[in-house]
Amino acid sequence: MKLDDKGLLVVISGPSGVGKGTIRSALFEMEGHDLVYSVSMTTRKPRSDEINGREYWFVTKEEFEKKIKENKMLEYAEFVGNYYGTPLEKVDEQLKAGKEVVLEIEVNGAMQVRERVGDAVFIFIAPPSYEALETRLRSRGTEDTEHIKERIEKAKKELGLAYQYDYIVVNDEVKNAADKIMAIIRAEHARTERTIYKYNSLLGVKKNEKF
Ligand code: 5GP
Repeated sequence: MKLDDKGLLVVISGPSGVGKGTIRSALFEMEGHDLVYSVSMTTRKPRSDEINGREYWFVTKEEFEKKIKENKMLEYAEFVGNYYGTPLEKVDEQLKAGKEVVLEIEVNGAMQVRERVGDAVFIFIAPPSYEALETRLRSRGTEDTEHIKERIEKAKKELGLAYQYDYIVVNDEVKNAADKIMAIIRAEHARTERTIYKYNSLLGVKKNEKF
């Protein structure tokens, strides 16, 4: 166990097509961090380059609903006709081991995490402009026309919920956005309420007493 802290839950959201996946890769490639990615579960069909257990755990609707019933999801949501959710057990284990666990999830799921995990940090990735997002969604080529339209509509709604997050990072340039997220994570660790407990016993401060 590291001396400096317990784990930190980092929730990243942003509209479909904003470049979350690319930013996440850049973030994980940076040196000197203890980040782990929580692989979500989904009922969506895998895209041609996706591998079960790497991008997602791909399951059937029945399997997903069973997990919900058994209370095994930290959060879940329906997104454009499919379920997406975060399996609870692994996240819990990793936080207890002092890791920084990154969730990349949509806004409804993020708000459920807000209710359940009081000290998580919430980061919204925004596009430089709405036009940039629409162009990207149309040119990505991973969805058919009907699904693209749905995702564009959804993206508009999601942008409108950005104010519920602790931070908004604009994806003007991938490296820049990843640097900002890392800076946020580091700053969060230094927050008084995450750090002060180490000194309480040393200074004879009782639990819940102000420093
Ligand atoms: P995609 O189909 O493009 O991989 O993902 C669609 C949306 O689902 C994205 O906004 C992505 O962030 C979100 N998503 C992925 N995993 C989860 C999850 O575990 N929970 C929730 N609530 N959303 C997720």
